[in-house]
Amino acid sequence: MKITEHIAQAKGKTLFSFEIIPPQKGKNIQELYNNIDPLMEFKPPFIDVTTSREEYIYIDKDGLLDRKTTRMRPGTVGICAAIKHKYNVDTVPHVLCGGFTKEETEYLLVDCHYLGIENVMALRGDAMKHEQYFKATNGGHTFATELVSQIQNLNTGKYLHDVIDADDKADFCIGVAGYPEKHLEAPSLVTDLKRLKQKVDAGADYVVTQMFFDNKKYFEFVAAARKEGIMVPIIPGIKPIAVKRHLQLLPQVFKIDLPEELIKEVEQCKDNKAVRQVGVEYCIQQSKELLKAGVPVLHYYSMGKSDNIKAVAQGVF
Ligand SMILES: Cc1cc2nc3c(=O)[nH]c(=O)nc-3n(C[C@H](O)[C@H](O)[C@H](O)COP(=O)(O)OP(=O)(O)OC[C@H]3O[C@@H](n4cnc5c(N)ncnc54)[C@H](O)[C@@H]3O)c2cc1C
Repeated sequence: MKITEHIAQAKGKTLFSFEIIPPQKGKNIQELYNNIDPLMEFKPPFIDVTTSREEYIYIDKDGLLDRKTTRMRPGTVGICAAIKHKYNVDTVPHVLCGGFTKEETEYLLVDCHYLGIENVMALRGDAMKHEQYFKATNGGHTFATELVSQIQNLNTGKYLHDVIDADDKADFCIGVAGYPEKHLEAPSLVTDLKRLKQKVDAGADYVVTQMFFDNKKYFEFVAAARKEGIMVPIIPGIKPIAVKRHLQLLPQVFKIDLPEELIKEVEQCKDNKAVRQVGVEYCIQQSKELLKAGVPVLHYYSMGKSDNIKAVAQGVF
């Protein structure tokens, strides 16, 4: 079922969902299942599976370093199919511009269609680790808007180069990213919102936000988006702080602010066990306020471990 259909069917009741990361190449998928199992009692209608950018590795070959490109966490579509089959739940693969040609993206989408995957998140992807700025892959897209258009074209039976009569059209529900504290490269929040509007005009059906820790920013973002004419569901994505290092890491990586009260509480913690507890309690309060405001879904970034997401869900749902 499409995410928008899940939301419509819930008739105003807030749904629970979460995002997972594929295991590292060479690791067993069982650990992923062990982290999903405890969350299934909260009946997520869908689970997102991220896609990682490719990266360079250097292999010593007779004293010379040979550069190879590899993806450390492959398998997004396979994992989506496995989870869908095992738990009978909808899965949402993240589809990236970066690292994929348009043709590769088309084949990936065809796979999704055959597997009965009805939702995809269309994302540009971040810059590669060694790059300061995002560089489009040769033959790939530069912005997520273009990727949304490609998916939307497939929905109308329009493939990239082939002049074919498609009698079995895809019908993907398309999610895109939104940034309550603006995307790090955008010159202003207003400009960023105009670009979000372009993604919706190109065919995006819903928005999932970057994590935020101050609900006011989400509420203001939704109000500004509505003013801009963005009328699709805007799903808040949130995450409980789990380790002290997050105080530096999250602002650095995601360019987001943390509220003073949360910083103070985390700084007073003796160890990361105490930080995890503070993170859970803060996230419960944040979730309860969002729930009261009637958000369509509370979407949690699990980052692989689910014990804290389970503790939050127990306190909220
Ligand atoms: C919910 C969510 C899930 C994510 N999942 C993943 C994942 O699985 N894997 C991963 O690698 N990353 C993921 N990301 C991170 C995302 O890939 C990065 O934030 C990336 O830098 C931007 O992606 P985007 O789709 O928002 O890009 P875009 O919408 O293309 O925007 C990127 C930047 O370009 C600007 N822009 C857009 N259109 C134009 C234009 N026409 N002209 C000039 N500027 C323009 C925007 O304002 C913005 O600053 C996720 C982010 C979110 C919020």
